Amino acid sequence: MDDIRKSLSPARLGSICVYCGASSAVNEKYIRLAEALGRELAGRGIRLVYGGGGVGLMGACAMAAHERGGEVLGIMPRFLLQKERIYTDVEHRIVDDMHTRKMMMFEEADAFIVLPGGIGTLEEAVEILSWARLGLHAKPMAFLDEDGFWEPFFELIEKIIAGGFIPEEFRGTMVHCTTSADAITALEDRRVVIDL
Ligand code: AMP
Repeated sequence: MDDIRKSLSPARLGSICVYCGASSAVNEKYIRLAEALGRELAGRGIRLVYGGGGVGLMGACAMAAHERGGEVLGIMPRFLLQKERIYTDVEHRIVDDMHTRKMMMFEEADAFIVLPGGIGTLEEAVEILSWARLGLHAKPMAFLDEDGFWEPFFELIEKIIAGGFIPEEFRGTMVHCTTSADAITALEDRRVVIDL
């Protein structure tokens, strides 16, 4: 965990890690949102770090960023190469297991954006928040949706705060946004924030 601490407080927001769904059987509006985020990252010269897949929102975001000339790094565990159809047109690393993938995605990023997704997306986002809660890093996280997808999650966080399980200041680690531009700007504003 010392290594994690050393990677804190980036001087600039050079890379953003995006967590999002891998399923392609989703409403098209989510795919469009992922594409818009990919284009926005590329347009701002911010590298996209993601799970390496060519399916679902993951693939949509990466392909859109790549098509706009953006830098992309995909990190894929070997056992998911087929299932998540690794996208090889961009820089990619194949790692031995899920743990290594998650740690590498964390280390390569200055901040995080969470798009709509399933259990994997939720797990990845909550793990990063749990590390923030433990004081292991201060990288901010934005949840991005256009349809209130993440509202119940923020309602839960409010209940958790009201119950005294986390301090009110923890709200500063995360923000809820409805456009890619707002999400990135919010992360830039918050990048050296949190004192828990
Ligand atoms: P999902 O949101 O379930 O579609 O998954 C999104 C991404 O999270 C996929 O690339 C999955 O491989 C990944 N994922 C699934 N389970 C986990 C987990 N326990 N930890 C980290 N990533 C996961």
